[in-house]
Order: sequence, then structure tokens, then C-alpha cells
Amino acid sequence: SKKAIIIGSGIAGLASSVRLAAKGFEVEVFEANSYPGGKLSEIQLGAYRFDAGPSLFTLPEQVEELFRLAGKNPKDHFEYQKLDIACHYFWEDGKQIKAFADINQFAEEVETKLGEPASHVRKALKNSAFIYENLSPLFMHRSLHQFSTWTNAQALKSYLKMGKLGIFSTMNQANEALFENPKMVQLFNRYATYNGSDPYQTPATLNIIPHLEFNRGAYFPKKGMHDITQSIYKLAKSMGVQFHFNSKVEEILIDKGKAVGIIVSGEEKKADLVINNMDMVNAYKSLLKKQKQPKRLLNQPKSSSALIFYWGIKKEFKQLGLHNILFSENYKAEFEHIFEKGSIYQDPTVYINITSVCKPDDAPEGSMNWFTMINVPNNQGQDWDQLIQEAKKNIISKVNRVLQTDIESLIEVEEILDPRTIESKTSSAQGALYGNSSNNKFAAFLRHANYSSSIKNLFFCGGSVHPGGGIPLSLLSAKIMIGFIK
Ligand code: FAD
Repeated sequence: SKKAIIIGSGIAGLASSVRLAAKGFEVEVFEANSYPGGKLSEIQLGAYRFDAGPSLFTLPEQVEELFRLAGKNPKDHFEYQKLDIACHYFWEDGKQIKAFADINQFAEEVETKLGEPASHVRKALKNSAFIYENLSPLFMHRSLHQFSTWTNAQALKSYLKMGKLGIFSTMNQANEALFENPKMVQLFNRYATYNGSDPYQTPATLNIIPHLEFNRGAYFPKKGMHDITQSIYKLAKSMGVQFHFNSKVEEILIDKGKAVGIIVSGEEKKADLVINNMDMVNAYKSLLKKQKQPKRLLNQPKSSSALIFYWGIKKEFKQLGLHNILFSENYKAEFEHIFEKGSIYQDPTVYINITSVCKPDDAPEGSMNWFTMINVPNNQGQDWDQLIQEAKKNIISKVNRVLQTDIESLIEVEEILDPRTIESKTSSAQGALYGNSSNNKFAAFLRHANYSSSIKNLFFCGGSVHPGGGIPLSLLSAKIMIGFIK
């Protein structure tokens, strides 16, 4: 059988290994870290467990599909639950709302608590569904780099609806036109951060995202987010995929315009095809440094990064759920700091993810595991030690104001993840969470294809290539890529 080598065991590398094994390939995965999963891993601090990176899970059927490909029943290997409340929102003036998964209940909550007509919420989510239905077949499930994508019937239908798909206004403009209460504009603007973009720049097309959270649903894996990559890893192993950890690939071997293998720890490993799951920018700079560089793609602005405090908190806060947002009083200033000043605003929006709400053994009794995160610029060589120190002070005082507490006295254990460590742990260019940013109208077209146009037998998957970052799109990148492998 033909042999495939995969560089990296991020979620897209893992999904590719399953898909290739299902196609009959002999598959070997080389991973620089000592564990699989890349950004989707976990950390343990004393009695507290934390999912290290992603916390929001949508489109679980993308994971299930992998088990079905292997002839297995997904329910036997990967369990998850649907959330009744997608998120708990808090503002400084004491207003609080729950984003119920049930759209009518959510619309009612918004009308009662914020005075925003329920019909506006329904309209926003209908619009979001419309964008999804028209664009997802085109952008999420196909390569944009094939002529046929642009000439099929679905594409032609979409062109006719261009105006309604939000390509000509920004997300913020669209939300301001729809909602009366600035709090609702803010709530819906926040979806831009789901792929590391700026709602004041990104096209309104990204209003596609609330559809995933509300209409399709937000979920939580029974064993934590980490189980997404763990279960796919176990599946791959059961299909005969071989994993090599602590194995940082140094070069992709090219011979007469074809990828023929890799160099790892100074040794050559031959293969019929090579799949790169490493961040595309760093892959060109290191693994493909002797090859022609796609400069325009490499120089695209990157998405935002994150600063996370993993805190063991020795108290239970009953008003908090799995996902919680403490909103900034000046959202515009917050994004200007992230995307224009390369800095952090003094009143940042604080996201607190608490898995012990759903999975009590993640924290000791009477305690909670707080994954406390703010959006920050990607790494441009800022003085991070200084920025982190200030941000920590600002986060603590915000939490204290909004939750009426003294959070510092309740922190039992702490670890920090910042743009520098995100980059060093997973080789993401500038520590960006989602590869290129989508702030530009044409961003979707400025992502690397799922194959190399100049080197045969070389393919690309993961959050830095088409169709984009985040768990669902990274999984889809593997699926689209496989379509090119004969
Ligand atoms: P990555 O996870 O980037 O992994 C790449 C792997 O390749 C790594 O394991 C790395 O060690 C390995 N590698 C790199 N270079 C080499 C080499 N030379 N040799 C061998 N191995 C190599 N997404 C969501 O959907 N929801 C969220 O809520 C969410 N929140 C996030 C929060 C944070 C803090 C972060 C960091 C990300 C978040 N994301 C979220 C984004 C999501 O994690 C990523 O888009 C996705 O996990 C990317 O997967 P990937 O396949 O591209 O690989």
C-alpha cells in the first residue's frame, strides 16, 4: 500500500490520519510535542484539570463522521451533550442575560432584560442561517482553488444574493442596523472573535457564526474538550496509524518537483505523499525554506491571540455557567488596542470558561477551574511580561467589580498561556489562534490551498489553510484535502 507521512498531530492532522487510513494508506504521524492534539490539549494543576485551548464546540457531526468512516458507532467512543445555555453575559451596570439555546427563550430574555424586541433576535438568527445556507456549501465544503467551485450551480445562485450575504458592510454596521440596544450590538459583534477578527473591520458575512451556536447548537464533550483529540487519536491508532512523538520534522524532501519524504532528527523517511499540518507560515520558513515562497499569503495579517490565566478557584459561583462573558464598557477601544495598537485595553472583555460546571471532577468539591481569557494582539515582539502584569491587574479588578468578590484571595493555583507560549508550543505564526485574520473582505481567498500548486504529492491541512481556523473548519480542511488524494 501507499505510504503517507503527516507532519503534526493537531486536530486536522489527526483527522487526516483517520481519513487516509480509511482509504487504505499506511500512515505515520510525526509530532514535535510529547502528546497529540496541538492546541486542543489539556493541563493539570494540582487537583484541577483544564482544557488548554479551545472551549467552544460546534458541529460535533464533523467528529462523528470520522468514527463512521472507520465503521464504528461514534456514540461508543465519543460522547457529548448539548448546552441549554450557550453563554452567560454580564455588564458592569449589573445587567445579566443568559443566551438560551432555545431561540424563543433567548429572544424573550433579551426583550425582558434589555428591552430589545424579540423579533430582532429572531431576524438576526434567520439572517445568520441564510448566510450559512448560501455560503457554507461554497466556502466550507469545497476548495476555493478549483475552477469548478466558481462555476457550479450553487455558486451562480450565491452570486445573485451577494448583497444579502453581507460582503459590502462590516459586521458592526450590520448589527447596528438591526439592534436598538448597544448591548445587543456588542453581543453579536463578539462572534467576530470566534475566528480572531475585528467586528469593526470584518465583513458582515461573518454573521454566519451565531447560526452555528444557536441554530446548530453549542456542545460539550462529556470528558472535556480534550476528548475530541484524544478520541480521534485512539481511533487512528486502532486503524493502524503509527505515531512518533518528540519528533520535530526538519525538512520536507522534494525531488524533481515531488514531495518524497521528510527529514526528522537528521534521518530521512520516505513516503508517497506528505501532509503538512504545521502552521503554513512556519512550514514555508522551516520545512520548505529551499522552495519558492508564496509571499502574498505568508504576509497576510494574522488573527488575534489570547492571554489565558488557568486559575483554580476555591469557591463556587452559582451565577456562572460553562461559558461566561464580562463585557468591556468600550468594545471599540478594546479592538483598536488589539488590531491597531498591538496592545491591550485597560478594560478588556473577560471570558471565563468553567468546565467543572459540566464535569465536576475537573475541580475539587466547592471549587471551580477558571480558564480566564482575554483577546490580545498576536506576537509582534511586544513587552509581554509588562502587558501580562497590567492585564492581570485589570482582569482581577473587573471580575471583582462584576461578581462582587475578591478573586485574588481565592486563586489556589495559576498557570499562564500567552502569544509567545502559544507559538512555542504549537509553532503558530505570531501565536495567532486562527491563522490569517478575516478582517479583509478577500480573506477567504487569501488562505493557502489544501495542496501545493508547484510540488506534487504535498498537501496542507489545519487552521492556517483553507477553509480556516477553529475546530470545525480545521476538520473540514482535512476532508477537503483528502478529496485531492487519489
Ligand atoms: P494545531 O493545533 O495548530 O497543531 C499543530 C501541531 O503540529 C502541533 O501539535 C505542533 O506541535 C505540530 N508541529 C508543528 N510543527 C511541527 C514539526 N516541524 N514537526 C512535527 N510536528 C510539528 N477553536 C474552536 O473551534 N473553538 C474555540 O473555542 C477555540 N478557542 C481557542 C483558544 C485558544 C487559546 C487557542 C490556542 C485556540 C482556540 N481555537 C478554538 C482554535 C483551534 O484550537 C485551532 O484552530 C485548531 O485546534 C487548529 O488545529 P490544527 O490542526 O491546525 O493544528
